[in-house]
Parts: sequence; C-alpha cells; structure tokens
Amino acid sequence: MIIVQQKPLKEIFEMTKNLKKLLIVGCDGCSSVIQVGGERQANILKSLLEINRKVKGEKDPSAKAISILRQCDRQIVTTALDPIIKDYDAIVSLSCGVGVQTIADLFQSTLIIPAIDTKFLGMHDTKADKFHEMCTACGECILFETGGVCPLTRCAKSLLNGPCGGQANGRCEVGGWKNDCAWILIFNRLKERNRLDLFTKFRLPKDYRVSRHPRELSFKAENEEATEA
Ligand code: SF4
Ligand code: SF4
Repeated sequence: MIIVQQKPLKEIFEMTKNLKKLLIVGCDGCSSVIQVGGERQANILKSLLEINRKVKGEKDPSAKAISILRQCDRQIVTTALDPIIKDYDAIVSLSCGVGVQTIADLFQSTLIIPAIDTKFLGMHDTKADKFHEMCTACGECILFETGGVCPLTRCAKSLLNGPCGGQANGRCEVGGWKNDCAWILIFNRLKERNRLDLFTKFRLPKDYRVSRHPRELSFKAENEEATEA
C-alpha cells in the first residue's frame, strides 16, 4: 500500500490560516487503513483546527469533516465532492499525493491543502508497528529472479548484481550496518529454493525508459490491441 504520514500540525495550521470554510476530506483507501487519513482522522483534524483558532483568539473556521471511498479515483471524487465543493474556501486532503492531485485537477478553482506526506510503497508490520519500503514501481518486476526480494528498492545502491563489498555479516554499510543486505537475503532465499542458478545469472543494466515519469497505462487499449492481433 501507499505509506503516508500526517504533516506537522504547525504546517497544516499555517496553510489553513485565514481560511473560513474548510472541507476536510479523508480517504478510505491506504491512508485510512494505516489510520492516518480516514473519517476518524478527518474529524480529529477538524477539532484540532478549531482548538488552535480558539487558543489564538481567532474566529472559528466553519469546518466539516467527511471521508470518501478513494481520492485517487476521478469518478468517485466527482460524485462525492461536486455537489458540495462550492460551499467551501478550501479542501484539506488526508490522502496520498495522488488523491490530492486528483482533486486539484477536477476542481481547479478551489484551493487544495495536503495534510499528508506521501512516503513510499510499503509493507505494514502491525506487530512491530513499522512500515518497510518494498517496491519503487519500476515497471518490470524481477522478483522471480531474486527470491521475492526487490534489489532495486531494498539494496541501498539498487544493484542488479550483488552483493557489493560493503556488506558485513549480512548487513549493509549504507546507514551504518543497521539494515539487512538485500543481496544476502536474495542469496539465502534462492539457496533455500534450490535456485542459485538465478543468483549467478548476470543482469544487464535496467532499461529505465519503462519507468520514466509520467507514466500512463490503458487496459482498454491493450485489450483492444490483443483482440486485433
Ligand atoms: S522489481 Fe522491485 S521495484 Fe520493480 S516492480 Fe518488482 S518489486 Fe517493484
Ligand atoms: S551491502 Fe548489500 S544492500 Fe548494501 S549496497 Fe551493498 S549489495 Fe546493496
């Protein structure tokens, strides 16, 4: 999922300063699942904005908190916000950068305030209460060859043929030997699966043209091409 983190309140207060009618919009997708940006968090942020204004002796903002199914879907955003957006000076979004940009693109005359920082694509370890970056969406997945460990993301140097000379006892020199060396993990996984042939395979430099921004994908066009062929 997309891992996000709420911005410091000071920053949110500054961005919403002097705005009277605020619509605080949570997202029931990734940011809600990790309890950063769902309906509950939208309501909490509304209360904090109101308290901050009271403490500073300013007039209350007229704020409303809602949450929508997904802020990264144009149709869902249009259906949810189109009937009400005209009543507000600004929208405070509790979604990842994709959701913020979807709203900004659909409602170009409304001020959009991001209350969330988008961090990375990651795995949630609920027991340890930690998030780990796992994938950088390179566009051509090679996890089959690497025992299910992504070297592009989990090797600090994104090496396609490793390990480098900077590993010691299975730990990576980058960051002071705190993290596992991804290539030692890959070696161990492939050994366990009797596929060390994949470990010794030489991988050519990656073709980064497939991951150049901004990317587009149309399943409809691809299906039509496949049908014609
Ligand atoms: S190789 Fe790594 S970065 Fe590329 S798609 Fe697979 S997991 Fe993601
Ligand atoms: S020690 Fe391992 S994880 Fe660190 S940069 Fe070298 S190969 Fe990558």
